[in-house]
Amino acid sequence: MADLVTLTPEGLYCQQGGFHIDPWRPVPWALITHAHADHARRGAGTYHAARSGVGLLQGRLGPEAAIRGHAFGKPLAFGDVTVSFHPAGHVLGSAQIRIAAGGEVWVISGDYKRDPDPSCETFEVVPCDVFVTEATFALPIYRWDPIDRVMAALLGWWDANAAAGRASVLFCYALGKAQRVLAEIGVRTDRRVLVHGAIDALLDAYRDEGVALAPTTPVGARVRGESYAGELVIAPPSAFGSPWMRRFGDAGTGFASGWMRVRGNRRWRGFDRGFVLSDHVDWPGLLATIEGTGAGRVLATHGYADTLARYLREVGLAAEPLETRFDGEAEDVE
Ligand SMILES: [Zn+2]
Ligand SMILES: [Zn+2]
Repeated sequence: MADLVTLTPEGLYCQQGGFHIDPWRPVPWALITHAHADHARRGAGTYHAARSGVGLLQGRLGPEAAIRGHAFGKPLAFGDVTVSFHPAGHVLGSAQIRIAAGGEVWVISGDYKRDPDPSCETFEVVPCDVFVTEATFALPIYRWDPIDRVMAALLGWWDANAAAGRASVLFCYALGKAQRVLAEIGVRTDRRVLVHGAIDALLDAYRDEGVALAPTTPVGARVRGESYAGELVIAPPSAFGSPWMRRFGDAGTGFASGWMRVRGNRRWRGFDRGFVLSDHVDWPGLLATIEGTGAGRVLATHGYADTLARYLREVGLAAEPLETRFDGEAEDVE
């Protein structure tokens, strides 16, 4: 039997359904897993996505983009195949895409994680024959700490800087990570957090979906010359070292990313503190998920796809890497 999903110059393609998944070139029908720039690109005729992510997608693709939102789990007919969206736990509205035809089921995971995240829907294990998985952190060294430990370290760092009369500037990806941190802060304290404009622009899409975030103020709304001592500021990595930083004076700087697991990583340098926090699945979560799906064949995208495919073949699964154009936790992408 021919593969239900194949790789074409436009991206992942389901011929029987007539649609592409997260295509990187213009196509008539695009099914989108989530709103990150490497998965949601402009130029498709019609987009289909999980309903709770439509606000973020519209912001990414522009007001003229035609986007149809669908409830999680609802079966949709495309040509000869049945499609449904299932939560991926990566960012708000992120979805795995289940494709069924002729008794065979494929699941395209997009990006996903298994750790709890109050800012998005919880990952659902979807049984399938073929699982297309991301492999951003597919090495045994990548294991995430419990979120309580990460947040205790982050809040402790904020307190220590405040006691020293300094601001704390935390850098993290503007879409997903920033809102996750704001949601986690919101369940632990009612303190106000200052946010960079690029992050502020994405908060309404979360609050409109009922996600509770810590109270925020855009940095741009502050009076010139007002002190930032004791404040926590959240900003995208691109703002690090930019003139925008000058207003904070001698601030403590931190970076929240899965890459912080490896000391000496080039992304670590220059920041005072690293917090290991990722919106991607870690190594144990990846293996547990693959096993949970019951898939006999696995196709790996992102990052360590070759390593993961080799490992899976050694344990008896059919596995290959897929040469897609998706990035991992690349700077300013996620
Ligand atoms: Zn992503
Ligand atoms: Zn990705």
